[in-house]
Amino acid sequence: MEYIILIVVLAVLLLGLGGTMLLRPRGTRGVRRGRAGGDIAAGGGTGTITRDGPESESTAGAATVTAPAPAPPAPPAGQPVAEPVLEKPPPSAGRMVRLRARLARSQTGFGSALLNLLSRDRLDEDTWDEIEEVLITADVGVTPARQIVSDLRTKVKVEGTRTVDEVRAMLRAELLAQVETEASRALRTQRHEGRPAVILVVGVNGTGKTTTCGKLARSLIGDGQAVVLGAADTFRAAAADQLQTWGERVGAQVVRSDKEGADPGSVAFDAVSKGIETEADVVLIDTAGRLHTKTGLMDELGKVKRVIEKRTSVDEVLLVLDATTGQNGLRQARVFAEVVDVSGIVLTKLDGTAKGGIVIAVQRELGVPVKLVGLGEGPDDLAPFDPVTFVDAILGG
Ligand code: GDP
Repeated sequence: MEYIILIVVLAVLLLGLGGTMLLRPRGTRGVRRGRAGGDIAAGGGTGTITRDGPESESTAGAATVTAPAPAPPAPPAGQPVAEPVLEKPPPSAGRMVRLRARLARSQTGFGSALLNLLSRDRLDEDTWDEIEEVLITADVGVTPARQIVSDLRTKVKVEGTRTVDEVRAMLRAELLAQVETEASRALRTQRHEGRPAVILVVGVNGTGKTTTCGKLARSLIGDGQAVVLGAADTFRAAAADQLQTWGERVGAQVVRSDKEGADPGSVAFDAVSKGIETEADVVLIDTAGRLHTKTGLMDELGKVKRVIEKRTSVDEVLLVLDATTGQNGLRQARVFAEVVDVSGIVLTKLDGTAKGGIVIAVQRELGVPVKLVGLGEGPDDLAPFDPVTFVDAILGG
């Protein structure tokens, strides 16, 4: 009896296994990807291939198939290999105006909330509190928010009744007064004493430092300058590769070390030497932003700066700050400003946050102007900062 039960159990198990194998559709081996990451879908659908078949059948329909590019034919013997075609980036002038729609998309929420509140018939204490709240939520900072409210209250008292246009003009003037600074926003990128200008780019990892170096190199090349990039962020393995790709696209020379963890000072020194030797206009140095300890950071950046100064002066120290990180980002910025003499701020990812008020907060906090803003991940999405375009984008004008 037991023997029969055992045979029956075995038979059931075998049948079950065979059934599962037979029922599994043959094509569910996953989605194949083209070179650029495009999914190949069967029958015009998206996602998993459900049926195997000849190549023409499985790729038919609306789905994009990115085939690997065919290898370029080898040049005939004795002929030089063709140089890769370099991209021609657009000049930096007028970039912020071009990117204004992107800025408006992220910032008008805070502008229109202020305009609505200020247009109320009666501006009572609660309304003023709400106005202050909107400003603080947009990362303007507590002290500047109070200042703005106090200025607006005075103006409202003096001017009495307000039309929509008057409210707008009043707010525009107030925001402009807060955003404008006496310090120049121009980048020092001119050769001097027969040497290139040197720009050190610092900031916490992840803020967009390397991307900013790449975008800035493009923009300078678009303005007709010759650029050398120094990959002194030797602690992040991918940073040098990233920088090299940026450089290769537009013809900027890239100086790097092949050793991970190499001495950043020596890479910076070599980059500056290369810039002097090739008579470049600007040398841009990407650095590592490890905020382990303030002393560690000071040692690291201090050494890079000292080493560069053996050959020439450092003309700009640009601090890269991620606009989406709010108060935390400001705290980090403070540490950097204590360690190096920051001459300008690059505010990245302004396209990804409604908290554009950070422009006001950071300038006030560090006493240094925002010189550039990042408005997207595209190669030309870095613009010289222009207060008027910024404020008008906030107000949706
Ligand atoms: P690093 O570690 O500071 O060198 O940071 P990376 O340059 O590697 O940049 C980190 C990420 O931020 C990347 O995915 C960038 O594409 C992204 N990024 C940089 N700037 C901007 C910007 O202005 N807007 C947006 N949306 N993303 C940005």
